[in-house]
Amino acid sequence: MRSVYIVMGLVVMGLTTQGFALNEKETQLKDFITAHVEKVKPLEKQMNLAWWEAYTTGDPGAYDRLSELTLQIRRIRSDPTEFTLLKNLKESGQVKDPLLARQLVVLYNSYLENQIEPDLLKQIVELGTQIEKNFGSFRGNIDGKKVTDNEIVDILKSETDSAKRQKAWVASKQVGAAVAPDVVRLVKLRNQAARKLGFDNFHTMSLAIGEQDVKEVDKVFNELYELTNKPFAKLKAELDGILARKYAISPKELMPWHYHDRFFQETPLVYDLDLDAYYKDKDVKSLAERFYAGIDLPVEAILAKSDLYEKEGKNPHAFCTDIDREGDVRVLCNLKNDEYWMETILHELGHGVYDKYLDYSTPYLLRQPAHTLTTEGMAMFFGRLSRNPAWMQQMLGLSKAQRAEIEKVSDKYAQLKQLIFARWAMVMYYFEKELYANPDQDLTKLWWDLVEKYQMLHRPPSRANPDWAAKIHISTSPCYYHNYMLGEMFASQLHHYIVYNVLALKSDKGVSYIGQKAAGEFLRDKVFHAGDLYLWNTMIEQATGEPLTAKYFVQQFVK
Ligand SMILES: [Zn+2]
Repeated sequence: MRSVYIVMGLVVMGLTTQGFALNEKETQLKDFITAHVEKVKPLEKQMNLAWWEAYTTGDPGAYDRLSELTLQIRRIRSDPTEFTLLKNLKESGQVKDPLLARQLVVLYNSYLENQIEPDLLKQIVELGTQIEKNFGSFRGNIDGKKVTDNEIVDILKSETDSAKRQKAWVASKQVGAAVAPDVVRLVKLRNQAARKLGFDNFHTMSLAIGEQDVKEVDKVFNELYELTNKPFAKLKAELDGILARKYAISPKELMPWHYHDRFFQETPLVYDLDLDAYYKDKDVKSLAERFYAGIDLPVEAILAKSDLYEKEGKNPHAFCTDIDREGDVRVLCNLKNDEYWMETILHELGHGVYDKYLDYSTPYLLRQPAHTLTTEGMAMFFGRLSRNPAWMQQMLGLSKAQRAEIEKVSDKYAQLKQLIFARWAMVMYYFEKELYANPDQDLTKLWWDLVEKYQMLHRPPSRANPDWAAKIHISTSPCYYHNYMLGEMFASQLHHYIVYNVLALKSDKGVSYIGQKAAGEFLRDKVFHAGDLYLWNTMIEQATGEPLTAKYFVQQFVK
């Protein structure tokens, strides 16, 4: 039996198959699911283990096994006969049992994305790989001399001479011209594939496969735009003042190369505070372990299976993986005792507790987070704590004076960071939407129109270079970027609900979640246990009383 949820005054019975006789279509689906899970479950486990081995050791043999197993699973889900069967079941409207109906949706989508004709898929994969390679090997140049990415980053971080900054920024965009024609070709191939499957374009299809409706995402992004417009303008004017003084120019003369980051997606280092000193003599692993134990979401079992420190051949980044949906959850990190890795391990363990505390009695296909945006949001929720002054004070044993020192800049920094990212995410979301709707339009103009509108940057005069194409995500992770932003909003919505409803506090000032077992219990019962039993936005509404909204993100970060 599943739990009973109370939604907006209506009592909705939990999903159960008990007591109902299955009709013919339902029986057919049930048998299909049994056979399908029997095939893919062991393969997915082997694939995850190969992935783990590849990333922890760098062993080429493990990488080969990983791509072989990935392909095997794709092959199962590309079977056109099985897809037709699922499609017919879906269109019959006869699958009424909620648990079976939900599995049908998840299965259908996993088959749908693999229905691209083999020839067309081959072209898409090959062109995508080619573009990725060109990105990898391209070097911009300054005054005819090739420069590395790190050199560009360094100049944009610290150079005070505007002419030198401009040259470095221009060099960072040269890759755009080198790849743009291929990216447009790739967009058209993706559109061709989407149209054959009955969608307007690839953007619409990608969102649909992720169970997102363009109108629904537009609505949330529009809300975010409206609510952040004025506060962003204010913060940016302040920032512009500081930057202009640094470069000894007037704010009107500030150009995109004055913002420390080539896309102005990250916070210029003007309010940043060195938090590393506070973590230097601590052990970030045991801090994370102690914190999660305190909210009743213990992570010892995850840490015991994890690979946490740097070693030869190991991937330098971080991730979390659920090997078998039966509790074998692992985290890869390259821990050092600094703020970056404190945030990272809290973030990865946020994914980790979501996977670890899923309800194992849920059918295999639904035993996963509701959406990448919900697990990303959970990870962000916990990751944010590494800069939270109250959390730091208590976890690190800081004095009142030290906490006050951190508070002086941390709020400002968090606001700036979140607002800058939000406005940048809007550029990405609307650009991709328009790009797939009409790849033949003047994309350079479109890009700068959006950058002006959302990021409030000055368009460099007569700029004809396809600067948009220099953003690698457009080629390699299409139509995905908006999920990072939706994840941030989900994190804030949970924060708001837990503070005011679960912990019944009057304000979120000084909230650190340390030792708050009720917070952990709420997350386990309302978010993790729900798994993928409901559409992501239904889960959010059931957990917090409202579908996803930008409101609480704005409340948290706009003061
Ligand atoms: Zn993550």
